[in-house]
Amino acid sequence: MSEKPLSTPLAGRTAIVTGATSGLGRRFAHLLSAAGASVALMGRRVDRLENEVAAIAAKGGKAVAIALDVAHAGAIAPAFDEAQAALGPLDILINNAGVGGEGMALDLAIESFDQTFDVNVRGVYFAAQAAAQRMIEGGAAGRDTARIVNIASIVGFTPIQGLSAYAGSKAAVLMITQTMAREWARHGIAVNAICPGYIETEINADWFKTEGGQKQVKGFPRRRLMDEGALDETLMLLCGPAARFITGTAITVDDGQSL
Ligand code: NAP
Repeated sequence: MSEKPLSTPLAGRTAIVTGATSGLGRRFAHLLSAAGASVALMGRRVDRLENEVAAIAAKGGKAVAIALDVAHAGAIAPAFDEAQAALGPLDILINNAGVGGEGMALDLAIESFDQTFDVNVRGVYFAAQAAAQRMIEGGAAGRDTARIVNIASIVGFTPIQGLSAYAGSKAAVLMITQTMAREWARHGIAVNAICPGYIETEINADWFKTEGGQKQVKGFPRRRLMDEGALDETLMLLCGPAARFITGTAITVDDGQSL
């Protein structure tokens, strides 16, 4: 039996994207909207969120901008409640907000380490928790539309010098993903991760302009960076009906960079 794929497979769903002010998060918000979902865009730079919401509305989508610093874990639940009040019960969380935190381990500042873990680990953990609570209460879990996608990284399993804190934070995201997937399997919530390789965005643009950055790119098997659309199909797979039997998985999309 073959069914024609829907052009808006996420029609009627409500999604939250953290870190939607730039790079991958902005891309994900537009992608989910184009697939029919109503989207709450969250981040700290509210002017940027509002610009993206206006751009989505201009294309006929429904979106809201909600200020959220995920490093303030206590602010996450109220922001998610605001999203539900505006858009309806939550189905999808894209746990995307992240910071780099570069520095050699011998002298990395405590503040830098804490900022990396506050955003990349605590932020991801408590956003997933707040989402799962609402997916269970709101019925998405029972309808098999509940999806949490955590944006990890290939450095969560590939050591790269100068990224010990960031790499540690992304390794934590991978194990948190698996454990939450195990705990929430019986509720019908799919929890998965994507491990991207290097995609040129604001998080690394300065680095890849340097000689060291150019040298790193030349060392990649395909001698290139990926573009912002590299994760589109994987994200859609993990947000849509195809993920009804996929949970606790991390999908690597890295153009062979970790090989
Ligand atoms: P980016 O353009 O720098 O975007 C990062 C986003 O995170 C921004 O929207 C930023 O928004 C948000 N953010 C940072 N701190 C935040 C906080 N405390 N609270 C809420 N939002 C916060 O970088 P990107 O490449 O798109 O990164 C997105 C995700 O992909 C990150 O988790 C990153 O680790 C991961 N990743 C990226 C690559 C890559 O090569 N680009 C590779 C692997 C994984 P505000 O500053 O407005 O708050």
